[in-house]
Amino acid sequence: MSLINTDWDYAKLEELIEARGSYVIHETGVACTCRNQDTFASMIERDGMPASLRRLNCYLCAGDGYIYRNARVIKGLISGVSSGPSRSLINVGYAVPGDAVFSPSFNAGNLTDFDKITFLFPEPLHEGQVILRNAANMSDNKLVRTDLSSSEDRLWYSPAAAIWCEDENGIIYTHGTDFVFDDKKVQWVENTPDDGTLYVLKYEGYHEWLVYHTPLDRFDRDRDLSPRVLIRKKHVMFTNGSLADTPAKRVDEQDELTTRTKI
Ligand SMILES: [Zn+2]
Repeated sequence: MSLINTDWDYAKLEELIEARGSYVIHETGVACTCRNQDTFASMIERDGMPASLRRLNCYLCAGDGYIYRNARVIKGLISGVSSGPSRSLINVGYAVPGDAVFSPSFNAGNLTDFDKITFLFPEPLHEGQVILRNAANMSDNKLVRTDLSSSEDRLWYSPAAAIWCEDENGIIYTHGTDFVFDDKKVQWVENTPDDGTLYVLKYEGYHEWLVYHTPLDRFDRDRDLSPRVLIRKKHVMFTNGSLADTPAKRVDEQDELTTRTKI
């Protein structure tokens, strides 16, 4: 067999993705206009302020700096990077443990940096999420738009089922009795922890991932084989993006929370 006659079998590759792949939601990641980086903007004033000033408490992106548009369902193969051939991505510094690789179907269209991928099957959220009860309506957070009532707390991902919930005093709470889920919110119904109490909630949720596209474009004899993209969990990049109004306050809050967390 001559090498020159060996070629990619596109049909077989697509067949593999169709047979073994998963459906996910793909959204195009776009910079929010609050992240103004136009050089000329610094020469212009708007409402008595430099036009280059970043808008705080942004209603469009909730402080993340990215908006996600053009949602559609696509199919692709998902694999981890902590074992198997993709481990080399960790070794060369492209990926960190916990990242994943997504190989989209040829029919999926282009994926680009900072696009969002949402899995349609729930997975446990590693060790869970530590939450300060009613933090959204306490102290300076009252100035920030959170859309959370005093009986609600924010989750990183849309939950499917609760696994364990316990507060810093060792009190255990039950899903369905003490709290319920409403999209990405915990709604407290009974036996609510006091405001300012830390609790941990481990749950299964529909994880969202952000695309790292750059090192993995695949071409064969000038033909685009569609990208194989690296993805990273969204909360790892934007943990509390929407809950602080200045970076300095953000650091203070982190310090305060860190010192109050019991290990
Ligand atoms: Zn914004």
